[in-house]
Amino acid sequence: MLTDHLWYPTEKIFVNGHWKEPDSGNHVELVNPSNGETIANIAQGNSRDIESSVSAALNALKGPWGKSTAVQRGRLLLRLSDLVKKRLNNLAYIESVDVGKPLTQSKNDAIALARYFEFYGGASDKITGETIPYLNGYTVYTLREPHGVTGHIVPWNYPMQIIGRTLGAALAMGNACILKPSEEACLTALAIGELAREAGFPDGAINIVPGLGTEAGRNLSQHPEVRHLSFTGSVEVGQAIQTEAAKNLVPVTLELGGKSPQIVFEDADLDKAMPFLVNAGIQNAGQTCSASSRILVSKKIYPELAARMAEIYKNLRVSQALDDLELGPVISQRQKDVIEKYIKNARDLEELSIGNAMDGLPEKGNYVLPRLFGNVPNSHKLAQEEIFGPVQVIIPFDDEEEAINIANDTKYGLVASVWTKDGARQMRVAKAIKSGQVFINNYGAGGGVELPFGGTGHSGHGREKGFEALYGFSTLKTVAAFHG
Ligand code: NAD
Repeated sequence: MLTDHLWYPTEKIFVNGHWKEPDSGNHVELVNPSNGETIANIAQGNSRDIESSVSAALNALKGPWGKSTAVQRGRLLLRLSDLVKKRLNNLAYIESVDVGKPLTQSKNDAIALARYFEFYGGASDKITGETIPYLNGYTVYTLREPHGVTGHIVPWNYPMQIIGRTLGAALAMGNACILKPSEEACLTALAIGELAREAGFPDGAINIVPGLGTEAGRNLSQHPEVRHLSFTGSVEVGQAIQTEAAKNLVPVTLELGGKSPQIVFEDADLDKAMPFLVNAGIQNAGQTCSASSRILVSKKIYPELAARMAEIYKNLRVSQALDDLELGPVISQRQKDVIEKYIKNARDLEELSIGNAMDGLPEKGNYVLPRLFGNVPNSHKLAQEEIFGPVQVIIPFDDEEEAINIANDTKYGLVASVWTKDGARQMRVAKAIKSGQVFINNYGAGGGVELPFGGTGHSGHGREKGFEALYGFSTLKTVAAFHG
C-alpha cells in the first residue's frame, strides 16, 4: 500500500523479516466499511505459513533476538515507537479507511500504539526477580524468562491499540511473536511489520500471518511450539482457543467482551459525567470491548439524566470515517444486521433518542444510527448481551445495594465506573463491583496504557497493559543454590 510516507505490500505475509507470498496463493478481500469499496486483498495464510513463522520465531530465539539484552530490546521498541510517531497521520488514515472509525479516533489509536511501544521499551530492563530467604547454606533467587514463541490473535475494532499492548509487552520480555490480525481489518497490522523491519528488529522476532480465523488463527492456536496465546475477541472464539491451548498445556490471556456499567448516584456532578456517559457508549460506533452500554442511575435523578443524554443523542452525527464526525459506519453488513436485530427486538422498550445520518451517505456503507433506551429492566436482552454497536440502555435503581446487584448481574466483568462525591461510597462500590477495572468519577482514563486491563467471568482472564502484562508474558524460574 502506498501512502505519502509508508509503503508495504498488503497482499503478503511477513515472516522471518521478509515479505512473502502466502503459501496458498489465495487472498481475502478487505472492504472499506464507509462505502463498500475494495481496499486491499490480504494474504490468506494457512498451516504452512504458520509452520514457517514458528520456525522463524524458534530460530530468532536461538539467534540474535534470543541473545539480546533487556536494554537492547527496550531500545528497539523505543525506535519502533518513534517510527509510529513519524507516521501517525498515515496510520490513522489507513485505520479509518479499514475499520471505519472517525479520523480523530484513529489518530488517538496511533498515539496509543506509539505510547505502548514507548512504555514497554522503557519497562523492558526494569522487570527484576527477587531473592528469597530460605534454609541455612542456600541462596535462592528468581528469574523472569520469556515463554518462547507467543501467538497473538487480535480483532478488527482497535487493531493498533491491541497490537501495541500485546506485542509491546511480549517483545519487551524477549518472546518471539506471531501475530494473526483480523481478516476484517488488517492494514495497520501489516504496517507495523514494515516499521518493525525499519526499526531493526532481528529476523523472526515479529512475524505476521493474516488470514481466516478458522484457518491461520486456528492453526496458530493449535501449534505445539507456541508456548503462550494472547487472544482478544469474542467469547465463543476465546473458548475455542482456550480449549486448543489446554491440549498443549499452554497459558492463555483472554480479553473478551463486556456489558460495562456506569453507576450514577444522585450527588454526581452531571456536567462532568455527561460526556463520559455518552462517549463510552458510542466511541468507535459502540464496537468497543469496554464500551459502557449500561447506564445505572438513581431514580432521584433519572428524569434529568435521561433528558440530558437524550439531547446529546439527538445531535450525534453518523458519517463516513474520513468526515471525522462522532460516529462512522460499523465494520460489516453482518455486524450491522446483528445490531439491527437487537434494535428490532427492543420494540417493548422506551426509545428515548436517536442520532442522525448525514446526507448522501454511500448506499454500500454499513451505517447504524445510535440509539438510547430508557427505563430498561436489567433482565432485558439489551441489558444482558453484548451488542457491539451504538446502543445504550438506562437502568434506574433505588439505592446503593440495588445498584451493585444490577452492576454485577451479567456474565461479564470488564470495566465499571462510579459517579458520586461521597468518598466512602466510592470505596464501597469500587470494592463490591466484579470487574477488571473500576473508575471513580471518570471512565476509561484516556486509554490507560499503564493500567492493568482484563476481565472476570465471560470478559476473560489474565491482564494486559501496564507492568502486569510483563508478568503474563514471562515465566518464573526459581534457582536454589546450596553453598553450605
Ligand atoms: P472474533 O472472535 O470473531 O475474532 C477475533 C480474532 O480471532 C480474529 O483475528 C479472527 O480471525 C480470529 N479467529 C476467529 N475464529 C478463530 C478460531 N477458531 N481460532 C483462532 N482464531 C480465530 O472477534 P471480532 O468479531 O473480531 O471482535 C469482536 C469481539 O471482540 C467482541 O466480542 C469484543 O467484545 C471483543 N473484543 C474484546 C476486547 C478486549 O480487550 N476485551 C477488545 C476488542 C474486542
